[in-house]
Amino acid sequence: GSTIGIIGGGQLGRMLAMAAARLGYRTVVLEPQPDCPAAQVANRQITAAYDDPAALAELADASAAVTYEFENVPVEAASALAAKVPVHPPARALEVAQDRVTEKTFLNGIGIATADFRAVDNDNELTAALKAFGGSGILKTRRMGYDGKGQRVFRNVEAGGFAGTCEAMGNVPLILEAFVPFEREISVIAARGIDGAVAAYDPAENVHRHGILHTSTLPAGISAGTVIAAQEAASTILSALDYVGVIGVEFFVLADGSLLANEIAPRVHNSGHWTEAACIVSQFEQHIRAVAGLPLGNPGRHSDCVMENLIGDDVLRVPELLAEPDLMLHLYGKAEARPGRKMGHFTRISRRG
Ligand code: ATP
Ligand code: MG
Ligand code: MG
Repeated sequence: GSTIGIIGGGQLGRMLAMAAARLGYRTVVLEPQPDCPAAQVANRQITAAYDDPAALAELADASAAVTYEFENVPVEAASALAAKVPVHPPARALEVAQDRVTEKTFLNGIGIATADFRAVDNDNELTAALKAFGGSGILKTRRMGYDGKGQRVFRNVEAGGFAGTCEAMGNVPLILEAFVPFEREISVIAARGIDGAVAAYDPAENVHRHGILHTSTLPAGISAGTVIAAQEAASTILSALDYVGVIGVEFFVLADGSLLANEIAPRVHNSGHWTEAACIVSQFEQHIRAVAGLPLGNPGRHSDCVMENLIGDDVLRVPELLAEPDLMLHLYGKAEARPGRKMGHFTRISRRG
């Protein structure tokens, strides 16, 4: 059968379903939220929890291959599915990406540098870790954080007096990361096919606002050597995970051009949305190609561009944006523009190559 299963029905699932349709595939989406963005374009929605055994069995039966649009798919669900139908990327990628300590340990183990870090489970461990990092660091929940949620910054604090911090963070496992004095942030979107071929897009330079990605700019203001180092690191990660599909890898760039990996996302990534406007083959098509066992497309970039997210009331800018000649608009079909909600994005072509 030529149906692709997608776990998760948000905007990333929607854009994957659109790319799949263009390549001639049908899609079925597993998503508990009715009338989700992806269901508006997919052929079918299974409206159930991501770990519902009957729903997973139905998804496996309906699909030639299954993929996902978010990194918090339960690992057990992905593993159970994988016994019945190919699941790409592999469950191991979820396991690594879901826990910041596991993730950094994995990256360091394959020779990719990250910020120094310590697992923190109580206020005493926090005190010790902050002391070790000279009084500065970023405390994060190990799991489930996104858009900068579940984070607390400490800058030049005196050791001690942190009673209650772990409780305020929800009494969940935490990580303290050393504060990285980065010059800029970049990300690489890369893909690995079923045949092991790797295709990496150019790194984007990312600016965040209130913890949410604001813009991705191409080209990034980095040297050719840093471009290659970032793409090679992404390729190393893909091979180490025996990965199939698209991955997003976020990096900090230091003043000397060297890189520290921040985190990986085992899926298509917001900082790769520019590829639909400035490349022949977008990250969404690339992911479907990989998952379906097709050859990967050319990740080359034909234009310089800036992608910008439309968050909440930013959608009110749509009429003026549509008046711009070299701008590609993409809305997600969400009815209500709540604060902090990703409603769409646009890519402005700044120079045609
Ligand atoms: P995402 O939505 O990208 O998944 P997230 O909630 O997982 O975000 P991170 O990417 O870990 O969070 O951090 C959010 C931002 O906070 C980073 O892009 C960076 O700007 C800043 N930041 C995170 N960790 C550090 C660090 N160790 N040192 C300095 N800045 C950091
Ligand atoms: Mg993250
Ligand atoms: Mg991030």
